Amino acid sequence: MRKKTIICTNGRGRKDRYVYIPEHPNSWIEGYMLESRLVMEKKIDRLLRREEIVHHIDGNPLNNKPENLQLFKTHLEHLSKAHGSIIKFENIKKLIGNETLNKSELQDRIMDKFKCNYTTAYKAINKYIDNFEVWIGNSDGSNFPSKFFKNIEFNKNER
Ligand SMILES: [Zn+2]
Repeated sequence: MRKKTIICTNGRGRKDRYVYIPEHPNSWIEGYMLESRLVMEKKIDRLLRREEIVHHIDGNPLNNKPENLQLFKTHLEHLSKAHGSIIKFENIKKLIGNETLNKSELQDRIMDKFKCNYTTAYKAINKYIDNFEVWIGNSDGSNFPSKFFKNIEFNKNER
């Protein structure tokens, strides 16, 4: 017999609660769906679209009380409004301009320009190196060793 609710952990250690509801049009083949989505659907009295994201205001994915849930239209809106800022590839490129910067100089500049912390700038630079333009979230960066930033130099001729 199936359990009514289960808790699953994803690859990054995040735990979510799922409800067994095979009759729901958006449940998985196994019959489960995210409890947070189900609660939000009851709250707004309609089915959620695939691209809509339910955010947990207190940061606890297991707290699916209606007042703890907030709905966003897209993944990007969710991340930018609820979790951090978007640092675009083009904006980092502009920040570098004609100059040649090492990683820590570029990092300082990103922190100053986008009012973000160490980790955010670190991630932004790595995304920049990978040629990605993605969301960069804010989190505590106190554990990042500065030696990571030493050897790479950036200037506009590289791109
Ligand atoms: Zn969220």
